[in-house]
Amino acid sequence: MENKTEQIALLLDNTKCIGCRGCQTSCKQWNNLSSEKTEFFGGAGYQNPANLSGSTYTLVKFHEVVEDDKLKDWVFWKTQCQHCINPACASVCLVGAIQKSENGPVVWDDSKCIGCRYCMLSCPYNIPKFEWDSVMPQIRKCFLCFDRIEQGQIPSCAKTCPTEAIMYGTRNELIEIAEDRLSSQPDKYYQHIYGLNEVGGTLILNISSIPLEEMGYPKNLTTEPLASRTATSISSISPVVVGLGAALGLFAIITNRKNEIAKQKAKEVLK
Ligand code: SF4
Ligand code: SF4
Ligand code: SF4
Repeated sequence: MENKTEQIALLLDNTKCIGCRGCQTSCKQWNNLSSEKTEFFGGAGYQNPANLSGSTYTLVKFHEVVEDDKLKDWVFWKTQCQHCINPACASVCLVGAIQKSENGPVVWDDSKCIGCRYCMLSCPYNIPKFEWDSVMPQIRKCFLCFDRIEQGQIPSCAKTCPTEAIMYGTRNELIEIAEDRLSSQPDKYYQHIYGLNEVGGTLILNISSIPLEEMGYPKNLTTEPLASRTATSISSISPVVVGLGAALGLFAIITNRKNEIAKQKAKEVLK
């Protein structure tokens, strides 16, 4: 990687993923994220936890491919922040708590976040999560192991993956690898690099045996960066509304904690 400012990226190849969840575990270990108490999830994918959260930055999901009422195949895929080249989340953050770094990763800064949650609403992939159970809640999401990259190491998930389903490199070199896989094995891959152009392009590039939209990714995304739209509309928001957003965040936290306490008391009564 000679050019320091060249955008770095991950290539996720579903056809190589065996669903071992090593990436999920190593992400938690490196970022010191707690485990989650889960209940059986019977929805699409059956995975636990069901979704990304403030303590799960990456999650391996599962999809059954059914044809004529028969199970034809199953696929695993890794979900996380797509690290947009022009991130909508950063464009709506009025205090600069989410920012695009020089060589690509979209990172956040705890000390600046006011909890307004506009970033959550703006993200086309529904990625940023709020720490609802924390006393001092913050927005959380994958930051592409920026701390490791700065020290010349590769992201924790990519280092752990035993099958090269996650590859790390510059965006340009990973696009070349993805194009080569698609053209040399046309029967194996759905002919599309997801993230090449969606919302202006992302640092996470996905190739797969089936369209990612069948696995729950948003359909018909524009190739125009959403940031250009969100930045225009957010510029008209007054500081009063921003303050209101932060106040609503605080109200939601208090309500959430009250509900938790009530649930706890109900459990004690039933003991
Ligand atoms: S996927 Fe969502 S959270 Fe991640 S950079 Fe893009 S807009 Fe931001
Ligand atoms: S890049 Fe780092 S923070 Fe992001 S999913 Fe991988 S291990 Fe987790
Ligand atoms: S570590 Fe690699 S093979 Fe294992 S679940 Fe993650 S992406 Fe798939």
